[in-house]
Amino acid sequence: MRIPLVAGNWKMNGTRASVTALAGAIASGCKAGGPQVVLCAPAIYLGAVAEVIAGSSVMLGAQNLSDQDAGAYTGEISGPMLRDMGARYVIVGHSERRRIYGETDALVAEKFEAARRCGLAPIVCVGETLAEREAGATQAVVRRQLETVINLNKLAEFEDAVVAYEPVWAIGTGRTATPAQAQEVQAFVRALVASRDRRIADGLRILYGGSVRADNAAALLAQADVDGALVGSASLDAGEFLMICAAAAARVKIK
Ligand code: PEP
Repeated sequence: MRIPLVAGNWKMNGTRASVTALAGAIASGCKAGGPQVVLCAPAIYLGAVAEVIAGSSVMLGAQNLSDQDAGAYTGEISGPMLRDMGARYVIVGHSERRRIYGETDALVAEKFEAARRCGLAPIVCVGETLAEREAGATQAVVRRQLETVINLNKLAEFEDAVVAYEPVWAIGTGRTATPAQAQEVQAFVRALVASRDRRIADGLRILYGGSVRADNAAALLAQADVDGALVGSASLDAGEFLMICAAAAARVKIK
């Protein structure tokens, strides 16, 4: 059985006081028997958040990492540093990193490898733009993004990794993929991995991300290949995020 995972991506938001309050509210609201919960805090606040969630079931995640482990890379943060601060997960290839900071498929694959080298579980994001969807290129784009990662890394490295399908047109726009659209692409991702290794595909957690909210989470999470959610804006509100976690907990009982 795939344990559902709900990850909050706080992006570049908050203050030390606000993120620690948010982490505390989420940690104390998480119920036993629910999904795994990961909070991807801004890097500078990882230590503060780690202290707040210590002893709870909530895990720490980062939003990005360097492809290098150490050295003269001014301003970068390495996987070993994230581990040192208590992170277990790291988002890799978020569309904002690809679009705003020019991260290529090749660099995303290198970052995935860097995460695996130090024992971080990557949450690798894939997804098409609206123009690509309208051109009928969704599967080709997702295949290219994922295969670049798979080809550089061994498929065995996907054992503890997570894939997040995040259609770019649904991120931060309030426009959510329909459950059927999410399921179609996520089934495609699983089939792609299964064509190389059925066992790894069966165990792979595939999240949906893109304007997930309390009022649409249950329908998305009811889909066979939607194993959880990567949540942006709604993760900044503890009550709303916990309602999404509750929707994922219902999935634990269904399966
Ligand atoms: C994200 O940034 O990964 C995301 C899914 O954002 P939002 O939920 O705000 O669309």
